[in-house]
Amino acid sequence: MLFDVICLPSSFRERRRRNLFRAVPDRENGMQIQGEPSFRQSVDLMFNRAVGLMDLSPGLEQKIRVCNSTYTVRFGVRLRGKIETFTGYRSVHSEHMEPVKGGIRYAMSVNQDEVEALAALMTYKCALVETPFGGSKGGLCIDPRAWDVHELELITRRFAYELIKRDLIHPAQNVPAPDMGTGEREMAWIADQYARMNTTDINAKACVTGKPPHAGGIQGRVEATGRGVQYALREFFRHPEDVALAKLSGTLDGKRVVVQGLGNVGYHAAKFLSEEDGCIITAAIERDGALVSDKGLNIEDIHQWMKKHGSIKGYPNATYVEDGAPLLEAECEILIPAAMEGVIHKGNAGGIKAPLIVEAANGPITFGGDEILRAKGTVIIPDMYANAGGVTVSYFEWVKNLSHIRFGRMQRRAEEARHHLLVAELERLSADKGLGWTMSPDFKDKYLRGAGELELVRSGLDDTMRGAYQAMREIWHGRADVEDLRVAAYIVAISRVASTYQSKGL
Ligand code: NAD
Repeated sequence: MLFDVICLPSSFRERRRRNLFRAVPDRENGMQIQGEPSFRQSVDLMFNRAVGLMDLSPGLEQKIRVCNSTYTVRFGVRLRGKIETFTGYRSVHSEHMEPVKGGIRYAMSVNQDEVEALAALMTYKCALVETPFGGSKGGLCIDPRAWDVHELELITRRFAYELIKRDLIHPAQNVPAPDMGTGEREMAWIADQYARMNTTDINAKACVTGKPPHAGGIQGRVEATGRGVQYALREFFRHPEDVALAKLSGTLDGKRVVVQGLGNVGYHAAKFLSEEDGCIITAAIERDGALVSDKGLNIEDIHQWMKKHGSIKGYPNATYVEDGAPLLEAECEILIPAAMEGVIHKGNAGGIKAPLIVEAANGPITFGGDEILRAKGTVIIPDMYANAGGVTVSYFEWVKNLSHIRFGRMQRRAEEARHHLLVAELERLSADKGLGWTMSPDFKDKYLRGAGELELVRSGLDDTMRGAYQAMREIWHGRADVEDLRVAAYIVAISRVASTYQSKGL
């Protein structure tokens, strides 16, 4: 064995290392990394690590850990002259608060283990960012790129029909949202399907979030998860002691960032961080390769290219690398896995050089990978916090749908009128006293403008991300037995869920 390691050429050793930890299909659990627990087991192990530091009764601990129910549906849709059968899931992890909430994913890798892991993460995420929901998740085994828009609509409406008739989509009981492979379009179809089946439900629009603004959605929802990643990083960099723990210093400006996945979450996070905070995106890893540039990638330009060509291949203004995954181990200050779960594992965690990882995707680091990174001192901003921007703004959308009024509609002009009064009075006093003070037009313009829906959504999201970080930080720095942000996040979330159960008499 030792002889092997010394004598094998490094490329061979590298290949063997990757093979040892490659994802393999498992009949029950879908794709699983060899030698690692499944995604669901990984979440439970992380839960156990935190709960071991808490003082909960074993019964309550178990009640919180388990997934309440998972519904599997198989349905047929007539497509291209024959009946195609699809398998879908909707899992409810915890109903300590209702409705339960969680996205619907479209991918071939969807399986029961995955939706249950994601539903559990939703419970903890909602508790951490104080959105009043239990955790749920859904998924459909489908390659959305294999079907045209009309076919996808038929499939989505049929899947929605199956869930709606069992109250697994319902404004008061179970409210889905977009996830990998789905977006505004699918949510609009689901909302319409619910409205057709519940013609007298005045709150029908609140049955799903992530809808386009013209179909009952809210400004700022599409970008919310990526925006939340940006706010999470900004909050982290407001604390020099935390930044120092990641062996970094200064601000986000000039930090080299590697991002994996340029979908909804990764594209928005990378775009905002590079355009607004001065980060340099040195590599973007996609499913069909990666783009690299030491000077920094133009994310919007790449996004436009991907929209037109369906791939990053052929993009002219960066170096293309066919095998993207090894770039997770590239030199950079911040690594943002924003594609899917299990991409950092026992097989590559040792090679990760980024001192700071922001889990924009759900579960991108396996339990085994997490152990290695923790031992190395890598700081990890955990998924349940880092990507909570989506559910936070979904919460605002749900409230908007239930209140049937756009945020800011009543206050905006009143606020502007009060600001006008103040500015006019200051200008009058300045003129009376001959002081000659004038306000810069830019300041005046910004100050006088009342907050519209988008400003209010951003303000609410920023406040939520700051508040949740403070809650994690108090535990992280306040308790000697808590070594990292993930354990801190779980402790905050589990204690909130436990309090809700306890106040219900459990
Ligand atoms: P998406 O489908 O919009 O984008 C995923 C991107 O990752 C795609 O561009 C895809 O090509 C790429 N990708 C897939 N496999 C890859 C691989 N092996 N290597 C590199 N790139 C790969 O999905 P999304 O909505 O951006 O979700 C991404 C992650 O964020 C998921 O884990 C999801 O659960 C999580 N998340 C999403 C939201 C949301 O609001 N959309 C909210 C919270 C968490």
